[in-house]
Amino acid sequence: MTDGDLDLTTRAVRAGIEDDRHYGAVVPPLHLSSTFTFSGLDRPRRHDYSRSGNPTRDVLADALCAMEAGAGACVTATGMAAITVALQLVEPGRRLLAPADCYGGTWRLIDALARRGAFEVEWVDFHDENAWKKALATPADLVWLESPTNPLLRLVDIRAICEASRASGARVVVDNTFLTPALQQPLVLGADIVVHSTTKYINGHSDVLGGAVVCADAETTDRVAWWANCMGLTGSAFDSWMTLRGLRTLEVRMRQHQENARAMARLLERHPAVARVHYPGLESHPQHRLAVRQQRGFGGIVSLELAGGKPAVRQFLDGLQLFSLAESLGGVESLVAHPATMTHAAMSAEARLAAGIGDGLLRLSVGLESAGDLCRELEAALGRVHLHVPGSPRVIDLSNA
Ligand SMILES: *Cc1c(COP(=O)(O)O)cnc(C)c1O
Repeated sequence: MTDGDLDLTTRAVRAGIEDDRHYGAVVPPLHLSSTFTFSGLDRPRRHDYSRSGNPTRDVLADALCAMEAGAGACVTATGMAAITVALQLVEPGRRLLAPADCYGGTWRLIDALARRGAFEVEWVDFHDENAWKKALATPADLVWLESPTNPLLRLVDIRAICEASRASGARVVVDNTFLTPALQQPLVLGADIVVHSTTKYINGHSDVLGGAVVCADAETTDRVAWWANCMGLTGSAFDSWMTLRGLRTLEVRMRQHQENARAMARLLERHPAVARVHYPGLESHPQHRLAVRQQRGFGGIVSLELAGGKPAVRQFLDGLQLFSLAESLGGVESLVAHPATMTHAAMSAEARLAAGIGDGLLRLSVGLESAGDLCRELEAALGRVHLHVPGSPRVIDLSNA
């Protein structure tokens, strides 16, 4: 059996296992050394200095590369470092097409670099086919995509956009942080580059920051690795070792995150205090069919809109114990975030409203606690939300509903 025949699950579990030739360690050793000896004058070994290359980081890069079906990968210190590296592929003065509803940190970086003249950016609505086709009519170096988006879980048709981009000479980067290669492989759908914040599901335990860039071809991998080393953005050996440990259980974690998320989405969909639920796994999601076509699953993030706005949010959050109020996502523990005052607070109120992020919106990162416990806690929290019935001053107490 060659490596190419192995399932993703097997590759992730076996990454670097039995590589140690000195002691026969089963798990790959952690090489913390910042520097490596030359075996003689003019005789460098495979590694010389850990910024440019480190054996522990290589094991993680190889594993991520295999899982994304790429030609090469570069492991970075954070997700934003991976995005910084990928953006070096836009030449000075050339065009970048980016989604207006991308991750806030990505938006801020692209905006800041464009303002200082690094490149030109056009913010595009990739949910609107006419809009992206029109944007691609003018040459661009790079197209930036995220699917599903944060926090509204809207999808873009990755395959269709990749085909049109290729025809127009632009390369496509997909930020695959939300689904991971366990549930979506953008390179297989035609993308040229995948970036990750491994801080989220890939590490999965909320205890490491990291990122990765995976490329479909060797030449781009070399360019990316050159910039990462040049700018000092590569990841540490220790973080790589920790992330590798998380990666081994990615598939089983994603399966359970998703099963729990689906249970939450179903419960929320039926509750009168909830105005809307955003989850691509629900048949009521407007892009459910696209999700079935381009993803292998629906992920572990569910967003909901409480009918009662911010007062309802306060009642809902009050006393929640199994959902910690925090930013970030993808860890084994459940988190809840209020985008309007947390992740998206830097946007103006008008920009937030235009993006569909109201004061009643909450994002759940559904963890691996028992689904029964999580459901009971959500029911209880929704029971604290007092419903105002339109046209009536009466307040309905749902605590026994
Ligand atoms: C968190 C996140 C990032 C940034 O990653 P860091 O590891 O925090 O630097 C980028 N993209 C998405 C979609 C994210 O969720």
